[in-house]
Amino acid sequence: MRDSFGREITYLRLSVTDRCDFRCTYCLPRDYRGFATPEDWLNPAEIERLVAIFASLGVRHVRLTGGEPLVRKEMLEIVERLGRLDALDEISLSTNASRLRQFAGDLRRAGVSRLNISLDSLNPETFGQITGGDLHKVLDGIEAAIEEGFRPLKLNMVVMRGINDHEVEEMIAYCMQHELTLRFIETMPVGLNGIEANRHYVPLKEIEARLRQQYSLQQAAMRGSGPARYFRVGDSGLVIGFITPQSQHFCDTCNRVRLSAEGDLHLCLGKENRVSLRSSLRQGDSDEAIRDIILAAVDRKPEKHSFDQPETHILRPMSALGG
Ligand code: SAM
Ligand code: SF4
Repeated sequence: MRDSFGREITYLRLSVTDRCDFRCTYCLPRDYRGFATPEDWLNPAEIERLVAIFASLGVRHVRLTGGEPLVRKEMLEIVERLGRLDALDEISLSTNASRLRQFAGDLRRAGVSRLNISLDSLNPETFGQITGGDLHKVLDGIEAAIEEGFRPLKLNMVVMRGINDHEVEEMIAYCMQHELTLRFIETMPVGLNGIEANRHYVPLKEIEARLRQQYSLQQAAMRGSGPARYFRVGDSGLVIGFITPQSQHFCDTCNRVRLSAEGDLHLCLGKENRVSLRSSLRQGDSDEAIRDIILAAVDRKPEKHSFDQPETHILRPMSALGG
């Protein structure tokens, strides 16, 4: 499946819920009430059917995300159903890790092969201020994932000026100690709090230059469907990555589309273009008809986001689309 710019679409980011047990300042306003009603979420059988259709069109990797995917009660059933689809090479999951102690083993057995975990601070107070959550539960969840053998295990840190940018070196030490991969992410002006979040924007070139004064960084290759640039840190074995949606966009190699919990197919995180697949499912359309709708939508995938034009700020919450 190719879009009109020749990009092959092999990666589906699937949001299983827009709800979350955290309220990260850059993602979800603390008093947000506009969540989708559960009847509007795709059920596990609908998800399985749609993913099978995407797989028949060439999607090979599905990432489960949210909101927080582990707050969805049917999460394991969803993974088990997707795990039975032979055409998929990989099922991965993005999580805040707050419930990972409880779920890590079952996720692994059900077929999740890779985890990405968000961790913005190692200071309990700062962590609480950013997320509203409990750092100790998250660190315990990360330990559970290590014990279950999730390797490589990637941590994602959104770097924010004046909030956690002084913790970069401490995060590096933590990841060296636990043999984790660490990826730094630039804030994006997306979501209900995106403009506010972007006041703390740090171009990651700045962090890279700072780290180069302390470590030697050798370019490294890393498996995955993402746009990060990776470097090996000295001879420590640690690999770090930089994800720079603002300062150096990577739209020309974009290989993904996104499906919201309510079954809306989104063609670009930074644009409003979308089409509802739930209505097709629930009105009884055939697989063939749904395939045609997906192909027509992919053909209209925008060339690039426009984060640099403030008037096009996207007002859907980031938690609805899973980053
Ligand atoms: N709850 C899970 C988690 O936090 O990993 C999965 C969903 S979350 C929306 C996916 C990723 O989006 C997280 O790594 C989060 O840091 C990132 N994210 C959310 N809002 C963002 C923003 N405004 N700018 C940059 N990254 C953002
Ligand atoms: Fe929840 Fe993830 Fe958004 Fe934080 S970034 S509020 S953990 S969905």
